Amino acid sequence: MRNFVFIAPPAAGKGTQSKLLVEKYGYNHISTGDLLREEVSKNTELGIQINEIISSGKLVSDDIVLTLLKNRLSSVLSGSNPFIIDGFPRTYNQAVMLEDCFKELNVDNYSVIYMNLDYEEAKKRVLGRLICPNCGKSFNDLVEGLMPKVSGICDSCSSNLEKRSDDTEETFKDRFDTYINNVEPILNYYNDLNKLINVDASKNAEDIFKDIETYVTEVK
Ligand code: AMP
Repeated sequence: MRNFVFIAPPAAGKGTQSKLLVEKYGYNHISTGDLLREEVSKNTELGIQINEIISSGKLVSDDIVLTLLKNRLSSVLSGSNPFIIDGFPRTYNQAVMLEDCFKELNVDNYSVIYMNLDYEEAKKRVLGRLICPNCGKSFNDLVEGLMPKVSGICDSCSSNLEKRSDDTEETFKDRFDTYINNVEPILNYYNDLNKLINVDASKNAEDIFKDIETYVTEVK
C-alpha cells in the first residue's frame, strides 16, 4: 500500500481521515502535533517550551519536530504497514528535510495529499472540534455528520469530550496565517516531484475518504 503525507489547513479533517485509514487499512498514523503534545504531557523542560509555542499558534523549531518524527518513522518502518504523516511538512524547508529523511530511510512509495479548505470553513471546524481524550476520536459541534450522538459524550467509549487548548478563534487566525504563508512553495515542490494529489476537503468526511481510498494502492 501507498504511504501518505497530508497537507491541509488546521482542522480540515486530516485526523479524521487518518483514523479511517488506520481502521480500514491498518495505516500507522504519525501526527507531529500528537508527538509534540506527548512531549508536553511529560512536563519536561522541553515539553514546557513546546507548550508555550503551541499555545501561541506558532511553529515549533524544525530540529525538535524532525527528531521526534524521524524516531517514530524509523520504528514504523520496521513493520510492514504503511504510514500517514500528518502535520509535517509545514514549510518548504521541512519538505526538503522530509525528502532527505525519506531518501535516508529508502522511502519512495508515497503520495502527498493536499486537502484544500477555505478560511471560513476551516474556522468553523476548529471552533466546533471536540476530541475524545480516551480513544482519540474526533467530533464537531458545528459540522453536520460529525456531531456526537449525545452532546459532549464520545459515541465510541462514552468519555467526556474535550476541546484542544489551541482551538480558539485568536490562535486559529495565527495558525491559518502561518499555513497560508507557507503552503504554496510546498505544493510547488511536490508538484515538481510528481507526488501531489488534490482532494476537496469541503466535502463530508465519508466522501473525502472515498476520494482518498482510490490512492491507497501502491504506486506502480
Ligand atoms: P496540529 O495538531 O497538527 O494542529 O499541531 C499543533 C501545533 O503543533 C501547531 O500549531 C504547531 O505549533 C506544532 N506543530 C505541529 N507540527 C509541526 C511542524 N511540522 N512544525 C512546527 N510546528 C509543528
